[in-house]
This record gives sequence, structure tokens and C-alpha cells, in this order.
Amino acid sequence: MNKSDSERIAGYLERLGYVWTDKREKAGVVVTTTCGVRQSAEDRVYGIVPKIKKENPKAVAVVTGCLAGRTDVQKRLKESVDIWLPINDLDGLGRRLQNIVPRHPTSVIEVGCRGIRKSDSSPASRRTRNDKEGSIGGYLSINPKYESNISAFVPIGNGCNNFCAYCVVPYARGREAYRPAEEVLAEVKSLVKKGYKEIILIAQNVNSYKSEVRNSKSETNPKSKIPASPELQRGEQNQKLTPINFARLLKQVNSISGNFWIRFATSHPKNMSEELIETIAGCEKVCHQIHLPAQAGDNEVLKRMNRKYTREHYLGFLKKIRAAMPDASISTDVIVGFPGETKQQFKNTEKLFRQAKFDMAFIAQYSPRPGTAAARFKDDVMKREKKRREEALTKILRQTALTNNKKYLGKTVEVMIDGRKNEVRFGKTKTGKNVKVKTGVNGKMRIGDIVKVKIDAVKEFNLSGTAARSLK
Ligand code: SF4
Repeated sequence: MNKSDSERIAGYLERLGYVWTDKREKAGVVVTTTCGVRQSAEDRVYGIVPKIKKENPKAVAVVTGCLAGRTDVQKRLKESVDIWLPINDLDGLGRRLQNIVPRHPTSVIEVGCRGIRKSDSSPASRRTRNDKEGSIGGYLSINPKYESNISAFVPIGNGCNNFCAYCVVPYARGREAYRPAEEVLAEVKSLVKKGYKEIILIAQNVNSYKSEVRNSKSETNPKSKIPASPELQRGEQNQKLTPINFARLLKQVNSISGNFWIRFATSHPKNMSEELIETIAGCEKVCHQIHLPAQAGDNEVLKRMNRKYTREHYLGFLKKIRAAMPDASISTDVIVGFPGETKQQFKNTEKLFRQAKFDMAFIAQYSPRPGTAAARFKDDVMKREKKRREEALTKILRQTALTNNKKYLGKTVEVMIDGRKNEVRFGKTKTGKNVKVKTGVNGKMRIGDIVKVKIDAVKEFNLSGTAARSLK
């Protein structure tokens, strides 16, 4: 989401007349998109932001993202930041930049919390802004400056209503707001027309998506195995707006003509539905890669986390997913050492890991986030115990991921090429597995090509094989 925010900020600044620079020390404006999900992410910001100001004191330093609204962060970084920007107030950035005489009027650089993206700017022309900017819907409507030529994040919503006890998102991003389906579909169509091969629909909780859509025959893909829903079929006849949820949005995106793959993140287990599983299984462009954050495997801990589901509910959905899509790869997020998590409760998370047989997991040691409900709990699991728990889950993950990957040995799978080094190409399967591709007979593979690859070696977190032939 932060990468997508950065792309939208870059698009907004371009509309104001700014251009990218790759010389950070000469940039006129530097935007840092911050992440506050864990203390380690926050600590990186305390390193990056002062460094930017030190190497280029004349730059207008803007900080946005999850940490921008925290008064303690503002106090700590006050010497290094000129503008604190709520992510849904890009109009505010335009106004405030206009009030600050650019000290290097020729460049802007944008920094994401997970890497540095470079840009150039020149605030020569300031075009009229879209009336909708300044609202959350308006912010999502801004045309982004996409970082990649083949893969694009398309936000379908922002914010969260769930208030998990450890999480800052509902405070930092506000309540859920969803983008009109027509606008999402228009952005995807435009990307596909430009040759994008991978569309990643993103929101904090895609499963809560709500909108309306006017269906049309031109959007219906006759090859789709999934028929339009009865509501959409009725909509097709009378052209009225009909309500749609995420599963139906996926069907609509799937029915856009073109040769592309669809991924999405993130799904909340409490909102997972059988309709969504059937849709993913039946839509030929939707990748069988599902990220379903479990967070814990113990019901008492899940309750204290305010997750509103049980381990039985979670495992039940995994069973349904694997029954509908035996090839699905499933990843998760989990927190170890949540306040009060006993050794026995952690054992239940280990058990969940063994039962779930994850392909990937993002394992975080709990750190209190100021302002959240859990920040009031006693952070009573020792650091070294958190580390031990993280290592224990990593060990299980390595075993299950390797066992899952062994099923690919000798199989030929589709791989989208997204990188290269000399004669070797890198890419991803539809299930999200990283693949190292020896070019074989197909030496002319380009970034964005989808090729058939015969898998001849596997590790825990990647596969390798030889290209058989290019599909596109
Ligand atoms: S669902 Fe929970 S963890 Fe996810 S963004 Fe919302 S509050 Fe945070």
C-alpha cells in the first residue's frame, strides 16, 4: 500500500509540474512514505529522514504514511521535516508547497519506506487540480506514476474498520473507504491497454469491498468459466447500477479482455467467503495465491488481538481453498510474543503452522504501537523468547514450504518474467513462487513475457527450471 501511495504522490506532483530526479542531493522536494507497522520499520524512518535533510538541507522534506500523524514522531523529527502530510490530503501538499519557495526549484525525489524511488521535478506549471482530491476517494483517483512497466498496484480501497488490538492502521489511515468499481475497472483497462501483465488489487481488507457497477456486454469475456452474477446479468439488461462485493469485482476485472494476471491482498479471515473461493478458482486470470493473515493459532490470543475468528474458522477456510484449488499457495502473517502469550498458547500457533502447511509466512516479533489497544497491555514476553518463537515458526515454515515446492519438480508451469541477469531470467508463477529461469531454447525472453518453464530444482522459497517456450 505504501508503494502504491508513493506512486500516487509522484503522479500528483507530476500533475503540478514536478519531474523526477535521480540526484537526491539536488532534489527540491523529498517525500518519505513511512510505515509504522512495527518498531523496526519506525526505526528505519528515524535513520532515513534526518539523513535526507543532512545531505540536502535546502530540500523541502515531506513525511507521509502511517507515522505522519503521530505527535511523538513529529517531535522527534521536527528538525528534519518541513511538511507532515496525511496521506488523504494531497491537496494540502500542493497548497503547502506553493507557500514554500522551492530552494532547489528543479527536482523532487520520493522515498518509500522499503526503498528509494528517485524522481525529477520542476514546479514550473501548476495545473488545476481535480475537485475530488483532498478526500480519500479523490486520493485513490489520482493517476499514479507506476514504478514498473509490467506490474501495477491498483488500490480498491483504503483504511480499516477492524481495530485489531496491535494495529495502527485504523488510526493512521482512518475508516474503510472504497473506490467506485467503474473507476477501478477503468484503471485496469487502461493498464492492460498499455501492456501491463500483472494487476495487483490492494486494500487493507479486500474482502469488505463494496461498490456498484453498471455491467455491459463489452466487458463480458465469453471464455470466462464464471458466469456473471444474477445481479450483474440483470444489470446488463437494464443498465442500472447494481451492488457488487469483492468476488464480483474480481469477476469484472477477470472479464476485461487481454493477457494479464490478477493478484490481490489482503484478505481478512473473518470476511473470507465461499463465493470468493469459487470466484478465484473459476476466474482464469486470477492467480491461485492467497495471503490470509492468521496472526496467531490460539483462540485466547486471537480474542485478545480482537481478530474475531477462531483457529477452527481459519483452518476450515484453508481446507475449502485447497479443495477448490489444490495448487493454491497460501501465505500468512503472524505475530509472536503478543502480550500475555504463554508457551502453551504459542504451541497452538506452532500446531497451526504444521496444519496449515504455509508456502510463506511473515513472522513478526510483537512490538507495542503507540495509541493502539494492545499498547496498554504489559509487553511481558522477553525479547529472547520472542526470537525463539520466531525461529521455531521459521523452522516449520521451511519444512512445509519445501514439501509444497517439491510438488513442482518435473512439472511445466507458466512463469511471468520480471527480471534478468546475464543469461538468467527471474520470474513468478501464478502461485507467486519465485523462479530462476535458464533460457534454454528460448533465449529472447523479455520482461513481461509469460513462458512455460520445466521445473528441475526446488528450494524452500524458490524454484528453478528451463524455459520451454514463450506463450506471449
Ligand atoms: S484488519 Fe486488523 S491488522 Fe489489518 S489493517 Fe485492519 S486493524 Fe490492521
